[in-house]
Amino acid sequence: MNRSALALAPPAAMQERWFHNLAPLSLALCLAAITALVWFTRAYDAEEQQATLISDTLWMEQNLRFQLDRNEAQLQQIAPALLSGERLSTQAEAQLRQLLTQDRGLIRILWRDQDGQLVGALPPITDKHLADKHPTDDTTTTTPEALSRLTRSIGHPIFGSPYPTADGQIHFEVSIPTWSDSAFLGTVIGVYSLSDLVMRELPWWFSERYRVAVLDADGKEIAAKSKIAPLAANRSYTTSLDPPGHGLLLQITPYKNETRWMPLLLSASIMLLGGVIIWSIWQLRRQLTRRQAAEQALLEESAYRKAMEDSLLTGLRARDLDGQLTYVNPAFCRMTGYDAADLIGRRPPLPYWESDHDERRRELQECLRDTGSTPNGVEIRFRRKNGDRLDVLLFEAPLIDAQGRHTGWMGSLLDITEQKRTRALAQQQEERLQATSRLVTMGEMASTLAHELNQPLTAIASYSSGCINRLEAAEIDRGELHGILEKLDRQAHRAGEIIRRVYDFVRRSEPKRELLDLSAVIRDAIGLIEADARKRRMRLTTEFAPQLPKIAVDPVMIEQAIVNLVRNGMDAMRDTPVGLRHIHISTALDPSALEGGALVVRVTDCGCGIDADTARHLFQPFFTTKEEGMGMGLNICRSIAELHRGRLYFEPTPNGGTIFTLSLPLTLA
Ligand code: ADP
Repeated sequence: MNRSALALAPPAAMQERWFHNLAPLSLALCLAAITALVWFTRAYDAEEQQATLISDTLWMEQNLRFQLDRNEAQLQQIAPALLSGERLSTQAEAQLRQLLTQDRGLIRILWRDQDGQLVGALPPITDKHLADKHPTDDTTTTTPEALSRLTRSIGHPIFGSPYPTADGQIHFEVSIPTWSDSAFLGTVIGVYSLSDLVMRELPWWFSERYRVAVLDADGKEIAAKSKIAPLAANRSYTTSLDPPGHGLLLQITPYKNETRWMPLLLSASIMLLGGVIIWSIWQLRRQLTRRQAAEQALLEESAYRKAMEDSLLTGLRARDLDGQLTYVNPAFCRMTGYDAADLIGRRPPLPYWESDHDERRRELQECLRDTGSTPNGVEIRFRRKNGDRLDVLLFEAPLIDAQGRHTGWMGSLLDITEQKRTRALAQQQEERLQATSRLVTMGEMASTLAHELNQPLTAIASYSSGCINRLEAAEIDRGELHGILEKLDRQAHRAGEIIRRVYDFVRRSEPKRELLDLSAVIRDAIGLIEADARKRRMRLTTEFAPQLPKIAVDPVMIEQAIVNLVRNGMDAMRDTPVGLRHIHISTALDPSALEGGALVVRVTDCGCGIDADTARHLFQPFFTTKEEGMGMGLNICRSIAELHRGRLYFEPTPNGGTIFTLSLPLTLA
């Protein structure tokens, strides 16, 4: 990860954490909001209900008051007629009866004279009615006489305390004083049944919705509209029932079973919506988690692939259908010497193209168009940024995207510059070897050629001088001359034949290998040089390791190499005292030499040795320290060694001489 990536990492991680916590946070907030909303809705609904309850109660109370006031007004209206002592007019009687209809709450009307004595009553009073109890704790206000007196003294209607009747009902009375021209006539008393008044006044919808009860001053229920106990007693509303007063209370309690659909529907829809939101958030969170996991996997996968691509030694490059570079890997950049930034987005001609290979590239393009890929690879040359040559083996394949569309080409490149160079070098060496092996053979053949040609040339010379002699002596016998010229022609043809044979032999380039005993080859080589050694008073000794495996070598070449090495040793001992001129040739098996072991031939001399300056140029062609030397011997010997995949090297001996070692691999065996 680079520095900028590191610098970006903490905010990115924080952002991710923030996103991750967002879902539960919003879930909690949503839940809280829904709960609050439902709670507010319900509270609002309860308040609404309470407000409705209060207004309904007040409406009920006002209704009662209105009823009582109306009754009172009508009683005042007919009071003078009742107290006059005269017979009631039909209209007054009708009025009286109307007042006593059930829905007015009045159950009886009494009228008393100025002394409080009962004058009349409708319906008439029976003994049973006389048994109706009047409270005794407050005689001044509640006995009929006392009420009459009080009414008279106050001068306006007064309501009496409620009292139970013999049949268990609760009654109360209103006493209305009546005057005629400031003369007090008496009082008219309206007797109300509390339950009749309260219950008959109730409209049906009210009694459907509420339970109505009247409580006395002690809070005891003395009248009620319904026998069913209300379920929401705590939500009842109580107001004083005045008139008649005396501590009477009107209590209204709503029935629970009333279903308020609107708030319920509202709450239900809020909860449903809330549920949907919570589910969506939950799904979103799951989706997010899944996406994060996928992203993580993708990151790991891409990091893994990038590591693989970065570690590749094969260069990779992608280009679109217009040839514009879209991707290069580090190996490709290393090969060409260009940075990825220099290459990506570049259109043809690309900077690493070699102009000499334009034709080759065109061929490649055509091949790609026709076959779609280059499965066996094609060799092509590029130019590195520093100008060096870059030979590559290019494999091209089409790039197909996720939709199956062909979007470009992916190329993988193997750097074969070194390989090609080695191959070219090997070819050069091979050619050089072939030339040198020809040279070796040439040297060998030179003497043969000289010897072989000597004979026909001598014959040609003698035949031609014979002809000249005959011509000069002017004794020409045409037959004899013809015979001489025929012989001359034969000799010339023979010489030509010899030269052709030598030419053919020299043209032969391949070493002709045979499976041979190396010791035997060396023995043959010594045989070739023995006479010379004797002449130069050199001692040759050999030491052959027993049971050496046979190896496949060109015997002529090996012989030539051994002869060369022995001859060089003899040359080096030119100034060595005669008794010390000794060359030792040995063979051995060296399992550690080369790879897989080798057969080695050592040629040890007691000569002048090789100084450092000579050693530097020893194997160079035409390097010699000898007047008559050609300087090709060691170069040819090393070529012969390499031709057999072997080595030729030298080392000094303790007595100042030199050991030349020719090692030949056992793999030739
Ligand atoms: P030439 O024999 O024609 O000079 P070579 O390539 O065989 O060519 O040898 C090159 C030179 O290496 C020789 O001229 C000589 O100076 C040196 N040289 C080769 N072999 C020996 C040796 N055994 N001891 C000392 N010098 C050697």
